Amino acid sequence: MLPKLLFATPAGTVLEHPNLLAIGRAGDDLLAPAEPPVALPPHGKLVHLPGRRPVGFNPETGAVEVLGRTSAGVGRRTFTPDAVAAVLPPGWTRTFLPATRRDSGPPLPQWAYAASGWGERGPVVWAMRTDQRNHWDPSRFSTPDLERRVAGLLAELPGNRVLTQLQRCALEYRCFTAQNIFYERDEGGLPGSTGCNARCQGCISQSRPGGPKASMERIPAPPSAEELAEIGARHLARARGRVMVSFGQGCEGEPLTRATVLAKAIGLMRRRTGRGSVNINTNGSLTEGLDALLGAGLDAVRVSLNSAHPDLYEAYYRPQGYGLRNVERSIALARRRKAYIALNLLILPGVTDRAGEVDRLSRLIVKHRVDQLQARSLCIDADDYVKLARGVGAGGAPMGVRAMLCALRRAAPWLVVGNFARGICERRKNDGSDLPRNEASPSQR
Ligand code: SF4
Repeated sequence: MLPKLLFATPAGTVLEHPNLLAIGRAGDDLLAPAEPPVALPPHGKLVHLPGRRPVGFNPETGAVEVLGRTSAGVGRRTFTPDAVAAVLPPGWTRTFLPATRRDSGPPLPQWAYAASGWGERGPVVWAMRTDQRNHWDPSRFSTPDLERRVAGLLAELPGNRVLTQLQRCALEYRCFTAQNIFYERDEGGLPGSTGCNARCQGCISQSRPGGPKASMERIPAPPSAEELAEIGARHLARARGRVMVSFGQGCEGEPLTRATVLAKAIGLMRRRTGRGSVNINTNGSLTEGLDALLGAGLDAVRVSLNSAHPDLYEAYYRPQGYGLRNVERSIALARRRKAYIALNLLILPGVTDRAGEVDRLSRLIVKHRVDQLQARSLCIDADDYVKLARGVGAGGAPMGVRAMLCALRRAAPWLVVGNFARGICERRKNDGSDLPRNEASPSQR
C-alpha cells in the first residue's frame, strides 16, 4: 500500500493529503516504487521544496496528479502547496527521488532529496541502509563539550591554519570529520587545498553561476606541510577507534593539486607515528601527484565519480585538463601500490542505475579489484542533474538502486558496499548492508 502524499503550506507546515498517495521518481519517470518505503530513520528530516509542486497518485481515478492548489482542511482557505522530501542521515542511500513538478524558483540547495510519504505509523522514505556502523551516528556529535574541546586545542596549537578551518567546520558546518579531530577519535579531516581542477555541477564548496549558494566556504589559505602534519600526527598518535586522517574534505578543492605539500606532510606524520591510516578523498585526476603521496605513506584512496562513462562523467565534473582516463590511471596505480581503494559513487536514481552505466561500473570495479563502494546519494537539484544526463552516457533501462548494488556485488563478490571509510582493522571485513541474502555473497552477512 502506498503511503499518503505529503505537502507543505507556505509557512512550511508538513501535512498529509487525505486522498492522494505518494509516489517516487527515477530520472524523468514518475512511478509507484515496487519496493516498500521504510520508516524515516532517526536524524532523518522532512524538508519542503520551494517552487516544487507535489505529485501524487489518485487511487480513485488511477491517474498521477499534480497538487496545484489545496487547503489544510475542509472550509480552510486554499494555497499553493510545496512538495516535501526527506534528507537522510549518514549510512543511508535514497532509492527514489521525490515526485515533483518544478514551477518556479532557483535550483534547490545541494542536498540529497529522497521520496517520502506518510505511512500508518508516521513518516516513511524510499531508502536503504547501506552502512550499519554507528560511529557516524549524529547523536555522537555536536555534544555540549565540543566548544570546550575546540577552544582547548586552539589554545594548545595557536596559529595553525588547518585548526582555524577545522574550528569553523566543527562549530559552524557541523562537519563530523572536523569534530573528530577535537574528539580525538576515528576519521579526522585535514583540509589543505583551495583550488580544484574540476567544476562539478554539484560542488558543495564552490557556488556555480546560476546555481545555489555552496553549503560551505573553502579554506581561505593553503596551509603548509608542517601545519597539516602537526594536526595529522597528533590525531594518528592519540585518537581511538578507526584511526585515520583524510585529505579531501567538503570544505576544500582537489587535494592532488597540492600533492608536493601533502606528500611532505605525510612524510612528517609518518616520521612521528606509524599508527592509523592516511587516506585521500580525491577526484583522481593527477596520477603523478597520487604516486608521490603513495610513496610518502598514503595507504587508502577514495575516488569520487558519478559515472564510468566519459561523457556523463565530463558532463557533471566538467574537468579542467584531465578526463576519466586519468581517473582510471590513478585507480590502476593505487591497485599496483596495494592501497585500499574505495569508489565514492554519486548516485541519482534513474541515471546511475541505467543498465549500461552499471555494466561500465562493474567492469571498472572488477578490472581494478576495487575494495569498497560507498553508495552516496548525490546532493543536487534532481531536475538539473537529469537535464545534464538526458541522452548522455551509457543508456539502458534503469534497474533501481537496490538492484544496481546487488548487480555490482554479483560482479565483484569481494566488494564491500558501505558508506563509511574502513579503518585498517576493518578492511576486507563484511559491510553489513541490508541487501537481500540471496543477492549478497555469503560472506556479507
Ligand atoms: S572535485 Fe570536489 S572540490 Fe572540485 S569541483 Fe568537484 S566537488 Fe568541488
